[in-house]
Order: sequence, then C-alpha cells, then structure tokens
Amino acid sequence: MNNVFVICEMDEGKIADVSLELLTKGRTLADTLKCKLEALVLGHKLKGIESHIFPYGADVVHIGDDPHLAPYTTLPHAAIINGLFRELKPQVALLGATTMGRDLGPRVSSALFSGLTADCTALEIGDHEDKKAGKVYKNLLYQIRPAFGGNIVATIINPDCRPQMATVREGVMKKAILDANYKGEVKTVEVSKYLKPEDLIVKVIERHMENSRVNIKNSSIIVAGGYGMGSKENFNLLYDLADVLGAEVGASRAAVDAGYADHDRQIGQTGVTVRPKLYIACGISGQIQHTAGMGESAMVIAINTDSNAPINRIADYVITGEVMDIIPKMIKYYKKNSK
Ligand code: FAD
Repeated sequence: MNNVFVICEMDEGKIADVSLELLTKGRTLADTLKCKLEALVLGHKLKGIESHIFPYGADVVHIGDDPHLAPYTTLPHAAIINGLFRELKPQVALLGATTMGRDLGPRVSSALFSGLTADCTALEIGDHEDKKAGKVYKNLLYQIRPAFGGNIVATIINPDCRPQMATVREGVMKKAILDANYKGEVKTVEVSKYLKPEDLIVKVIERHMENSRVNIKNSSIIVAGGYGMGSKENFNLLYDLADVLGAEVGASRAAVDAGYADHDRQIGQTGVTVRPKLYIACGISGQIQHTAGMGESAMVIAINTDSNAPINRIADYVITGEVMDIIPKMIKYYKKNSK
C-alpha cells in the first residue's frame, strides 16, 4: 500500500530502457519515502521477466501474462491498471513518455481522478505549505518540467489525489543496476478479474513497426549541428566528421526545422536526451531547450562565431570561428594524426 509504482513497458521481448531508468529513479524516491518500489509488467510470454527487473531495486514485480496483452492495446492495459491501482493505492506511479505511456497515462489518471504531469525532467520528494488553507503537505512528489515554452522550470504538485502520476522521456533519468542479486517478490496479476468483454473489442490484425534508423542515444561521441551550419550541404559535412570520429550526428531543432536533418536526430527538450562522452556542438547557440537534452555530456566542444554564445558557458573547450573553416580542418588533422 502507498508504494512507488513503475509501469514497465515491453520492447521486443525486453523491458524498455525508459522503464529501467524509471525503476532506478523510483528506487531513490521509495528510499526517501521509506516505502517499497513495485513494478508492473503486462504482456505475453513474460516468463522470467522479473529477473531483469529486480536488479534495479524493485521489491515487488506484478506480472500480468495473457495473450490479450500483447501487442499493447489501450483498453485491457488501462482496465487492469485502474483495477490494480484501486486496490493497491500507490502514492506515486511513473511511466515512460513513450507512445504507450502517453496513451495509457491519461487514461489511468482520468479514471482515478489523479492528475498527471507529462515529460518531467526531474522528480524529487518535498513538502508543500498551503498558506491559505493553513495546511502542510509532507513528502509530495515534485514533478519538475519546463513550462511556457521552456522559459520557466515548473514544479508541479498533486497534494490531495493519488497516485501522483508522471511520465518521463527516455534518456532523461539514468539507469543503474542497484544490485545484480537484488531479489523481491513476484505477484501474479489475475488478468481476467479486471477485464470486461468490451475491453477486448479491439483486435490487432496486422502490425508494422519502423525502427529508428539512428542511434544517437547510445553513441559515445555526438557531432551536433545547428542553424549556424547555414545549409543542408554544409550540414552534410558533419557526417564526414562523425565518420572519422566514429560518432553519430545530432541536430538542434532549428537545424531540423530548416530541413538540414531529420527529426529523429533532434536533441533537446522535444527531441532525444543524450549523455555522450564527447559532444561537439557546431553552430548551435545553446538555448535551454537544447541543453536540456545534452547538458550531462561528459565533455562539450563548442564551435561558434559568437564568443558569447550560451553554449560556451557549458562547454569544456570553445572554438570561436566559422564552422566551415574549422570542421574540414578537424577532419583533416584527425585523419592525419590517427594514421
Ligand atoms: P540559433 O539559435 O539560430 O543559433 C545558431 C548559432 O550558430 C548561433 O549561436 C550563431 O552564433 C552560430 N553561427 C551562425 N553562423 C555560424 C558559422 N558560420 N559558424 C559557427 N557558428 C555560427 N531546440 C532544440 O535544439 N531542441 C529541442 O528539443 C527544442 N525544443 C523546444 C521546445 C520548445 C517548447 C521551444 C519553444 C523551443 C525548443 N527548441 C528546441 C528551440 C530552441 O529554443 C532554439 O530555438 C534552438 O535550439 C536554436 O537552435 P540553434 O542553436 O541551432 O539556432
């Protein structure tokens, strides 16, 4: 009762990375709240799935294994979670801000009248004093996210309704194994108990999935280009630099909007969050919506004509100059020196 729950998502037979990231965050929250961390997995052919979840610190793993639960459809998943949450009364429930999470989260929160904060960038525990009502709320979930076009960082709370629900994008939280031998309890979800015939009305007859062609999230070196690259042709030079460095190419939103790169390369608040060992920002000003997605890179090199560009404030090395002068030199000398 009143525990922290993570609704886990299946991704091609495995627990999705975003769910493992949320379990890691959920463990910290549960420790602060001095309660248990519980995970919920719904799907089919889930035998042994708990062994991939326990190492992240889950005390309980609820498993609902049924042919009706894979592939994902809204109604049965929502019905089971609503029913289970009414019984178990979690105080916090976290989901990935994925297609599934964005579909499921609002369904559950509206059925339970709980409220939901989408796309949180941080989650913390804290108190809140309602001076008007003369009431102090202890240990609330601070659901932190940029608001008003990124101009403010809002802390959103949900004092009275439970669960306090939040979605978080993949890559925003860090995933970390707590203990490879951590063991908890497995509980079987009695799927049929929660489902009505009308929950099974939608049948998936055919399913086509297009896998992302780029893998910037897992790349240890990223060469990212912004509007300062000037044209799509200039932007293409970044692929040459990425080639010699063994890197992946990322882009700012302005570069994507200008047609220099596809959206799946966009880094930032409305793109991917990355934490590479090296991030080379080429012609990127470094607005907060961009740095939200790359600010935790281990090392940042900024190339910009403007020596006062905001990106320089978080950069470890700043090269002030024209991208089209500097990048060809980087390619030339890297090739020369790595022979
Ligand atoms: P600019 O801000 O135009 O900067 C171009 C930079 O290039 C400048 O610093 C300039 O000095 C430099 N430059 C120009 N010419 C050269 C040259 N020849 N050589 C070297 N340097 C040069 N942005 C994101 O990136 N990701 C997001 O996910 C994202 N989400 C957003 C969400 C919301 C709700 C909003 C409102 C905005 C979002 N943005 C996002 C947009 C963000 O606010 C910025 O507009 C964007 O990041 C700017 O991209 P940029 O730095 O490439 O372009």
